[in-house]
Amino acid sequence: MELLKLEHIFLSYHTPGGETPALQDVSFSLEQGEFAAIVGPSGCGKSTILNLIDRLLPPESGNIFIEGKPLADSHLNIGYMLQKDHLFEWRTIYSNVLLGLEIQHKLTPENRARVEDMLEAYGLAPFRNARPSELSGGMRQRAALIRTLALDPALLLLDEPFSALDYQTRLHVADDIGQIIRRERKTALLVTHDISEAISMADRVIILSPRPARVRRIVPVSLSIPERTPMRSREAPEFKTYFNLIWKELNSHEGD
Ligand code: ADP
Ligand code: MG
Repeated sequence: MELLKLEHIFLSYHTPGGETPALQDVSFSLEQGEFAAIVGPSGCGKSTILNLIDRLLPPESGNIFIEGKPLADSHLNIGYMLQKDHLFEWRTIYSNVLLGLEIQHKLTPENRARVEDMLEAYGLAPFRNARPSELSGGMRQRAALIRTLALDPALLLLDEPFSALDYQTRLHVADDIGQIIRRERKTALLVTHDISEAISMADRVIILSPRPARVRRIVPVSLSIPERTPMRSREAPEFKTYFNLIWKELNSHEGD
């Protein structure tokens, strides 16, 4: 089933300095349970797309549908994960992961139990009374993900969630977060400027042009490895072929 559909989206930012076209006829859709990645050069309009889906910005023209209904009529729960984890130092890890539920007045026994299960399953239970600064960058991102998943979002938006981490940590955290999202069977849309990260995590890669963003190509990723995880994906024989294909597409000047 189609969970999300963007149809001919146009958007420009209007500032005193003038008009900045950011999105130009962007269309794509996302199936239920699918993990898609959006890659594009810095400043091309990737975060703008996520902000539209999260209802933070209205499109100038075009339509967004959730489960076939206009976005404005949908009450679908959307989770948003950013580069900064936004954990509060004055709260323990436990009260940080409960924050979203607290704000939305959803601190029910069932929701608490689900959070407890996730803390246990994903190795954070021993750190429940720790402060964010006592955790590694990877553990903090895991806590941020649990806080997002606590609200049981049907769609997860991830905006370059690993770009603040150093390369080694980044590989491990992407592997970790990718596996948790798969295990929780979430539909996810990851924005990244890292081609390898996109291939390693996604079922499909949506390639954008430089600003104003247009969809250059959508590449389905199929890797011949058993039990695909982000880390193992990098070992797949097809990985390099996908990398080269996407690299070429990103760097072509056709139509710019
Ligand atoms: P990306 O996430 O791909 O780096 P963004 O979607 O954040 O790009 O931004 C796309 C373009 O729109 C950039 O050139 C950026 O400077 C511009 N932009 C983003 N937000 C605003 C805003 N609130 N006002 C004016 N221009 C903006
Ligand atoms: Mg961005």
